[in-house]
Amino acid sequence: TASAARVRGGRPMQNDAGHPVRYPEGNVLLRHLARDFPVVSHGEGVYLFDTQGKRYLDGSAGALVASVGHGNREVAGRIHEQLLRVGYVNGTHFTTEVTEQLASRLCALAPEGLTRAAFLGSGSEAVEAAIKFIRQLWVERGEPQRAKVITRVPSYHGNTLYALSLSGRPHYKKFFGPMLSEVVTTPAPYPYRSGLEDYARDGADHYARLLEETLQREGPGTIAAFIAEPVIGSSAGASPPPPGYFARVQEICGRYGILTLADEVMCGCGRTGRFFASELYDFTPDVLVLGKGISGGYAPLSALLVRQEHLEQMRLGSGGFMHAQTYLQAPAMTAAGLAVLDYYERHGVVANAARVGQYLQRRLREVLLPLPFVGSVQGVGLMAGVELVEDKASKKPFERSRKVVEGLLSELFAHGLVLWSNTGHADGTNGDLVMIGPPLIITEAEVDELVEKLARGITAFMERL
Ligand code: PLP
Repeated sequence: TASAARVRGGRPMQNDAGHPVRYPEGNVLLRHLARDFPVVSHGEGVYLFDTQGKRYLDGSAGALVASVGHGNREVAGRIHEQLLRVGYVNGTHFTTEVTEQLASRLCALAPEGLTRAAFLGSGSEAVEAAIKFIRQLWVERGEPQRAKVITRVPSYHGNTLYALSLSGRPHYKKFFGPMLSEVVTTPAPYPYRSGLEDYARDGADHYARLLEETLQREGPGTIAAFIAEPVIGSSAGASPPPPGYFARVQEICGRYGILTLADEVMCGCGRTGRFFASELYDFTPDVLVLGKGISGGYAPLSALLVRQEHLEQMRLGSGGFMHAQTYLQAPAMTAAGLAVLDYYERHGVVANAARVGQYLQRRLREVLLPLPFVGSVQGVGLMAGVELVEDKASKKPFERSRKVVEGLLSELFAHGLVLWSNTGHADGTNGDLVMIGPPLIITEAEVDELVEKLARGITAFMERL
């Protein structure tokens, strides 16, 4: 915490704009030492309740996790049944029915060719494993010089050291400099600040050209992989790609043999209104990772999906992928994934996300865009972002020192609406961003409540500002 740093005489780091980096509340592991949190007693659907009896509309499903809502008895019951049978086996010795079923069901839904799955505990772990998989493949193919990964800015791929290296969020990295790995970056599409007159028409060409330039500069034969979130999550407030973008990316990467990795940790599992976001954008990656909504928060779980032919190359070479962790495919975790997937199918959750998602996107634009200080609303399905700016005409962001998004979100929180924040333009890439991503079971009436509370909150907060 800031006070602990003072006690030890620590100095705050500075960001590129010369402002001190103070992690906003919500970003530091030990922040519970610094502030009293409400104590949550239980949840029900899209609502959370604290021990004081206060009700919160969970407009961001936590961190876009609680896909099937809170207090879901059907899901909890299925996990309970599995726990009574067996909760843990060593994933390098055994498999279980829940793990096998989850793997085959996910692969049946997955973009073409992704027919093999493995399960880990978090999005960051899945990203790490995906990168190691790709790297091992290149070594086994006799191209060990392919050791660079291209990532986009802004982006977020996790908080372990390599996943953080891949994350296009400079201020997250500030303290860890020499311990991070070198990666190659290229700009990510963000409609509001693309500088293009017609983003939909010219976006794909524009960003494809930038990628091609990056490749030529680095030497395409040294590149192992290109990683992207099909819809950029927390770092750009739900930014979808311009039409045709992934077809161009795929064509360019294919030309140089570069493997593609889709990070669907946030945008996957129905969030966009399709189970896989890649599908929505005609992206057929070589490797795909899922997390968050896959278990809806009922257990830690992430998935790594790869191609049979790549695994086969390893089997014939070294014998297999060199990776294991204690909680690899633990049935306590995969049972949660299977229960959530069954719940999705039984209750039409993805179809609900598509239908109510369209409604959310329309209502957010209708209600928020006319407000002063709302620069843009973007997103797809039940994943949306709002960028607040000081001046709509010039798109000038608020001074970071004013902590606009932090102030707004704590006011909304006080009024019982939980949304997620990006930490504003600490990276200089955008203004203050609010992230919306409710449970996928949300109804239109609950969307009305969310949008109304958000609009009222923005108006009241900005008037005072
Ligand atoms: N990738 C994306 C796109 C994410 O949004 C996140 C988390 O927010 C991660 C990876 C990391 O996942 P986890 O926090 O489960 O490690």
